Amino acid sequence: MVIEHHPFPVNDKGHLEIGGLDTVKLAEKYGTPLYVYDVSMIRKNARSFVDTFKKLGVRAKVAYASKAFSSIAMLQVAKQEKLCLDVVSEGELYTALKADFPAESIHLHGNNKSQEEISMAIQNGIGCIVVDNFHDIELIETVSKQLGKKDIDVLMRVTPGVESHTHEYIMTGNEDSKFGFDLQNGQAEEAFKLMQHHEAIHFKGLHCHIGSQIFETEGFKIAADMLFKELAKWKDLYDYIPEVLNLGGGFGIRYTKEDNPLPYNVYVEELIEAVKQHVETLNIPMPEIWIEPGRSIVGNTGITLYTIGSMKNIPGIRKYVSVDGGMTDNIRPALYQAKYEAVIANKATKPITDTVSIAGKSCESGDMLIWDLSVPDIDHGDLLAVFSTGAYSYSMASHYNRIPNAAVVFVENGSDKLVVKRETYKDVVKNDLTYE
Ligand SMILES: *Cc1c(COP(=O)(O)O)cnc(C)c1O
Repeated sequence: MVIEHHPFPVNDKGHLEIGGLDTVKLAEKYGTPLYVYDVSMIRKNARSFVDTFKKLGVRAKVAYASKAFSSIAMLQVAKQEKLCLDVVSEGELYTALKADFPAESIHLHGNNKSQEEISMAIQNGIGCIVVDNFHDIELIETVSKQLGKKDIDVLMRVTPGVESHTHEYIMTGNEDSKFGFDLQNGQAEEAFKLMQHHEAIHFKGLHCHIGSQIFETEGFKIAADMLFKELAKWKDLYDYIPEVLNLGGGFGIRYTKEDNPLPYNVYVEELIEAVKQHVETLNIPMPEIWIEPGRSIVGNTGITLYTIGSMKNIPGIRKYVSVDGGMTDNIRPALYQAKYEAVIANKATKPITDTVSIAGKSCESGDMLIWDLSVPDIDHGDLLAVFSTGAYSYSMASHYNRIPNAAVVFVENGSDKLVVKRETYKDVVKNDLTYE
């Protein structure tokens, strides 16, 4: 038996399995809350992007947006799958270098890069810096002089003014955005003129990222239209031909039955089709195409296991069922009203008899993980498995209420491995100093 809309099977004990392992056993072994990833699915997701470019014969780089889930083990898997890597901070870059990720395959993003970040990136021989604003250009100039380096590879992030159909909190592609240079108001062209023949900078091309959790290819195509409109102008005026075009990430995944993502190959195929038409019209060589999937690499590969504790029945209103985690290990429901599906992992085949709402344990009324979940009869101590928590859960974890961060376990081919230790209370106070 398989859980509807989700890729994980149920064994003959009626327990949910992931990567060939019983979730009840994993919870006993490692405790809860627990993030569990099926690594074979991470590989499969990565390959469906990489292989589609190969099949189409298009030179490409697939850069995993590590902010979705960064840890040394995860970045080792990304390296094994020959992905490139996006980082947006010194901390993400540090993690990547600690994972021995090849620096030349790392790209640095961010709307407020510090001089230290740019310096660390250049010193380590990072593959590309995605310039987001004029300040970035000045910092690259300064740092390259200090370090005696030239020809730093850069892309320029532009905002094409495309709205993707998604939740407004996670939209980044419209003109009123903190990210990138505006195409419409001429700032992109101004930055281009600064960088085209710059001593310190080797200008490789354009980048855009129009949003997240996108379910259709229309937005990407309109973004490509906008980029090529600008590129046509730059070809005319400045004889410019781009080496690279980076179309960002944002490919949608299934959280609930209402989400209908496209297969990843379809996103890639339609994107390439659109780019090819523009390239022919412009009569230029096909640039190398980069994409930056984050959520779509890891999101559906992870689940979170929780132990059920207190229950509160308000007759005629609702039943609250509380778990031993919540907004501290998954802020998305509280932050974006994100929706999830879940099962009682130790009773996955029991008949549904009730509707309950799953509350986290933090002192916020908004700390609710799932509203109105259909469940069988439940007891204290049952195990709840929330699906599709692989992206932006662990990476956004907090210590609110001084709750230690949960552990992360990787499973693959029937074996499990702890890859991030559970924090202890000692860890929680480790940077606290006294004041006596
Ligand atoms: C967040 C982000 C991504 C990844 O987005 P997903 O929705 O996780 O695929 C890619 N590129 C940039 C620039 C981003 O900010």
